[in-house]
Amino acid sequence: MSVDFGVIVIGAGPAGYVAAIRCAQLGIKTACIDNWVNEKGEPSLGGTCLNVGCIPSKALLQSSELFEQANKNFSQHGIKVGSVELDLGTMMERKNKIVSELTDGIAALLKANKVETITGTARLLADKKVEVAHNKDKKIYAADTIIIASGSSSIELANAPLTDKLIVDSTGALAFDSVPDKVGVIGAGVIGLELGSVWRRLGAEVIILEAQDVFLPTADKQIVRDALRSYKKQGLDIKLNSRLLSTEIKTIKKRRQVEVVYQNEKGNQKELFDKLIVAVGRKPNTDYIFDEEAELILDERGFIHVNEQCETSQPGVYAIGDVVRGPMLAHKGSEEGMMVAELIAGKHALINYDLIPAVIYTHPELAWAGKTEQQLQAAGESYKTGVFPFVASGRAKAQGDTSGMVKILSQSETDRILGVHIIGGQASELIAQAVIAMELGASAEDIALTVFAHPSLSEALHEAALAVDNRAIHIVQKKRR
Ligand code: FAD
Ligand code: NAD
Repeated sequence: MSVDFGVIVIGAGPAGYVAAIRCAQLGIKTACIDNWVNEKGEPSLGGTCLNVGCIPSKALLQSSELFEQANKNFSQHGIKVGSVELDLGTMMERKNKIVSELTDGIAALLKANKVETITGTARLLADKKVEVAHNKDKKIYAADTIIIASGSSSIELANAPLTDKLIVDSTGALAFDSVPDKVGVIGAGVIGLELGSVWRRLGAEVIILEAQDVFLPTADKQIVRDALRSYKKQGLDIKLNSRLLSTEIKTIKKRRQVEVVYQNEKGNQKELFDKLIVAVGRKPNTDYIFDEEAELILDERGFIHVNEQCETSQPGVYAIGDVVRGPMLAHKGSEEGMMVAELIAGKHALINYDLIPAVIYTHPELAWAGKTEQQLQAAGESYKTGVFPFVASGRAKAQGDTSGMVKILSQSETDRILGVHIIGGQASELIAQAVIAMELGASAEDIALTVFAHPSLSEALHEAALAVDNRAIHIVQKKRR
């Protein structure tokens, strides 16, 4: 069989569509196959991220944050708005419009780059052939190189099966048609915290049940302690060490609710919820993606096994994004997409997996990159710490949002920055400065010697760098130099 394309990409999420565009830019005849359909039954490119992930969740986080600000904080600024009313329908329409504009944008970008978009469900066969099923049709295409970017799906729990609009996953939780009185969330991970925040801000009582006794285990403990305090203060009830035992749909006073039984240190507990969101992680989409003859190897957790350059066990077959090891983040997948395109075109490319920023878009935001203090201690690394709280930042005060801090960890002898951890307003934006600094091998002193605009939240990064050497100006430090 002759070859139809130089590259076939399976999946048009942030990993796949980026890989496809970059391959096309590099002059390779490229096709991108995707099977996502929206509520209207139309193909919708952009994968989880654009359709039911990063983008719609951030749209609702922004709207709900404004609602909370209007309700609670405008008066401090001397702004009287009377009673603030929620129009959830308009809020959801805005979110849906953002999603459709962006997903249409991906289709336009692929077209402009002359990537052939194929709608259907792809399955890798032997010899880099791909079978695509769409409605009742099946077609087979062949390519020199295949990139699998099939993404991930929510993990379901046998003791909390999804039921129409009562027990839902993150997708369902982005589309409630009214604000529930009481929402339960299983899992105090990123999705639980972000979507729990949305519904709490819009007026629901939110209880998050987390099986582990540690909260956000991959983040720096000092930041996590601050976050937990903030979440509790705003009314997010996070119950650690709470293991889900069972769920049952009950009709109480003509109202369908979910009864949840969970176990904590005091024994079995019961709670009734109007909605239950299951957010216990995501699993790679590998069920259908390749035929046995394709002989791809999966790792022990079901991800497609790849090396640092995203090469699978089959020559000429790459896999990227959520379907392979590493953090399940859109920007990680996109960078892998860029990297494999360059490699396929015979260029040099690599990713610094040690510097992938993590962000949790709650209020305050959490953002970090590099090592945590606990990781440095476990590795026996000698380090210095500089912390600057936003309460001492003029800009944060002027904005009326002084929660949180910037924390910098640098190597004791060389002063090279090893990790930066931020909790506070716009942490998602501030962390980029830290990533650039670390990528360029900067020391804390390099940041200390850099001029930052005043007044800006970025000055907190500057002051934290000064604090590493005990010479921050706007806080009193123990030792002076
Ligand atoms: P996906 O985006 O899952 O795309 C895979 C695509 O492949 C899909 O369109 C799928 O339909 C298609 N596909 C699968 N199998 C086949 C097949 N056999 N044939 C054809 N097509 C197929 N990450 C962040 O970095 N920041 C965030 O703020 C963030 N927020 C999130 C919020 C929520 C609620 C969720 C659920 C996730 C969030 N994520 C976030 C994670 C992010 O969405 C994923 O990491 C990212 O989408 C992974 O990209 P991907 O391209 O690997 O896969
Ligand atoms: P997660 O891994 O972040 O958190 C899942 C949580 O559920 C964990 O704390 C886990 O201990 C807990 N858990 C697991 N089983 C449980 C059970 N039976 N009972 C109670 N708790 C249980 O997963 P997530 O929040 O579902 O998010 C999935 C992925 O999506 C993440 O990997 C994340 O990277 C990505 N995401 C990223 C962002 C962002 O970058 N801002 C936002 C949303 C999602």
